Amino acid sequence: MADTKLYELLGVGRGASDAEIKKAYRKLAKENHPDKNPAAGERFKEISYAYEVLSDPEKRQLYDRYGIEGLKEGGGPGGGFGGASMFEDLFGGFFGFPGMGGGGARSRRRRGEDTYHPLRVSLEDLYNGKTSKLQLSKTVICKKCSGAGGKAGATVRCRTCSGRGVKVTLRQLGPGMVQQMQSICPDCHGEGETINERDRCKECKGKKVVSETKILEVHVDKGMKNEQKIPFRGEGDQLPDMEPGDVIIILQQKEHEMFTRNGNDLYLTHTIGLVEALCGFQFVIKHLDGRDLVIANPPGEVVHPGMYKTVTGEGMPTYRNPFEKGNLYIKFDVTFPPNNFVESPQLQQLETLLPKRPHVDIPEGEHVEEVNLVDYEDTRDSSRGARSEAYHEDDDDDMGGHGPRVQCAHQ
Ligand SMILES: [Zn+2]
Ligand SMILES: [Zn+2]
Repeated sequence: MADTKLYELLGVGRGASDAEIKKAYRKLAKENHPDKNPAAGERFKEISYAYEVLSDPEKRQLYDRYGIEGLKEGGGPGGGFGGASMFEDLFGGFFGFPGMGGGGARSRRRRGEDTYHPLRVSLEDLYNGKTSKLQLSKTVICKKCSGAGGKAGATVRCRTCSGRGVKVTLRQLGPGMVQQMQSICPDCHGEGETINERDRCKECKGKKVVSETKILEVHVDKGMKNEQKIPFRGEGDQLPDMEPGDVIIILQQKEHEMFTRNGNDLYLTHTIGLVEALCGFQFVIKHLDGRDLVIANPPGEVVHPGMYKTVTGEGMPTYRNPFEKGNLYIKFDVTFPPNNFVESPQLQQLETLLPKRPHVDIPEGEHVEEVNLVDYEDTRDSSRGARSEAYHEDDDDDMGGHGPRVQCAHQ
């Protein structure tokens, strides 16, 4: 199952160390360099590609986990590591021959990292669509020196990394276990060379890049979802000899005070009184596009507490098909009248209108005991402890503070 072709190309095993990979690559690259062996051009490209992947810890990890596929289109989480561009390099398109010295296979264009920006949007924005302007600061290639950093020929090999462009750091994973990690040299940004101070470009001070403010127009389309990503290809930071990564906007939906969303459906809870539950009702809700929806239930249709009703086609628009909409689901809470809301004679009058109560036979005799019914809430407040003492003097108190206490009936 595991794809080991790149290891085979270099003639090393999957467990090969960075040093072994480098050694194998150098030997093969010398033998197969097109200058020496014009027939070996294709093979040389393959070897270089294998080295490019296996010498980069991130790419190697992706390859080990997902094979060649993992290197296309960025592969795993976090987006691209330049897989797509390397494929173009390998199968046609531009191909630069890596220098045979300490520079290794560094001369091909790497791809910069993608940058992520959250964008807070309201449910109204996602319903109606919206264009947001987002101001970002990014680095761009210095226009004055066209990214050279200074006069031609002013570059010298970077001292920090000895021109390798990478910095190797060792990380202690545990006793006797050390992980070797390669990162881009911070002093030369992976280029392996720097520019003498007096020859540096005045504009970018030899950094080859300057900071610039950029405004992106983000089109939030109808029906987009929370966490949906909107990519801006190649709008990431520009660095010399690097293909810029993408800027990726991630939508973050603010909570709505009335509606909650599930896919393209909307949910809301509406509270009605007992009269409305029994005798019909009308109410108005302000929809996300500003329309007033009049919602009516005819007299005679009874609404139970917790019941759901549906308004079809009044949910969220479907992304890329906004005339197709989800449903609106309304959950009904019913508020009952307070204690003693009418006098007793009127209750009897009311009773004549309501469905008949069931007949209950009350037994008689010594085993029959009439008990008190008290409000549930009154039995679970902070006074519980005191009552517990009164009724359960030698009870250990590990029953927790929730729910009514069961009282012993024998006394
Ligand atoms: Zn410059
Ligand atoms: Zn360096």
